[in-house]
Amino acid sequence: MCWKQTLAVIALAAAPLAAQNGPAHHAPKPPKSLRLYIFDCGVLKPADAKSFGFDKVAELKMSVPCFLVAHPKGTMMWDVGVVPDSDFKADGAPVEQGMISVTRPLKPQLEAIGYEPEDIKYIAFSHYHIDHTANANMFAGSTWLVSQPERDIMFSDKPAPVRAEKNYIALKDSKTKILPTTGDYDVFGDGTVIIKQTPGHTPGHQVLFLKLAKTGPVLVAGDLYHYNEERNTDHVPSFEYNKEQSLASRAKIEEFLKTSGAQLWIEHDFAANAKLKKSPAYYE
Ligand SMILES: [Zn+2]
Repeated sequence: MCWKQTLAVIALAAAPLAAQNGPAHHAPKPPKSLRLYIFDCGVLKPADAKSFGFDKVAELKMSVPCFLVAHPKGTMMWDVGVVPDSDFKADGAPVEQGMISVTRPLKPQLEAIGYEPEDIKYIAFSHYHIDHTANANMFAGSTWLVSQPERDIMFSDKPAPVRAEKNYIALKDSKTKILPTTGDYDVFGDGTVIIKQTPGHTPGHQVLFLKLAKTGPVLVAGDLYHYNEERNTDHVPSFEYNKEQSLASRAKIEEFLKTSGAQLWIEHDFAANAKLKKSPAYYE
């Protein structure tokens, strides 16, 4: 077969594929100023709050939000849910797994506002626990922002609590930016999206500070706290990696909230999260 025939065969073979896939996807135009989208990635229903050091809390249920940061210079996902989208059956029925309940997969929520996983420039998690990394493999093409101690425990041969390595295993080969263990990391270089190291809950737990033009400064706190009741106490979860580090990180962030005037958003705070706008609405 000459090269012209070869090309013709390839073209013929490719044509039906292109038709099946539809027109090429175009990522949404970058916004003019910073935006934050919040997705519903499920609910946790612990039997009690004892492992968090409380006999009783106002609301036992925990929200599981996922976040998309859309910046003029690129996008970043922050925390990606508690069950992978692949756990949903074809009928789309809610996924119930013990204390976990998820009604909506993540990818369709992204697609509803025009984004595909390949449009996401950076992926970052507050920490590696299963309820923050379930859909990580979906973003293996993004650049992963993580500190070395966190990455080390994620792929360690020793057992680590609340870990589901299979859900993020694809990141092992992803382009990775190792963040400094002290100080801040300015994701887009303009001071509007900052990752702050807050070790303790896990070796490299981190929180996200956003300077939103209309909303004002916001601190997305990961699991620095789970329940609002933990603030101003020395109660930390029983599965904490390092309690002293956690208390020091909390003290540092409480001080930062005062100086920055940022709102604190505790991701698992069910009542507070219920009041936040969900995608397609956004904060700017
Ligand atoms: Zn969590």
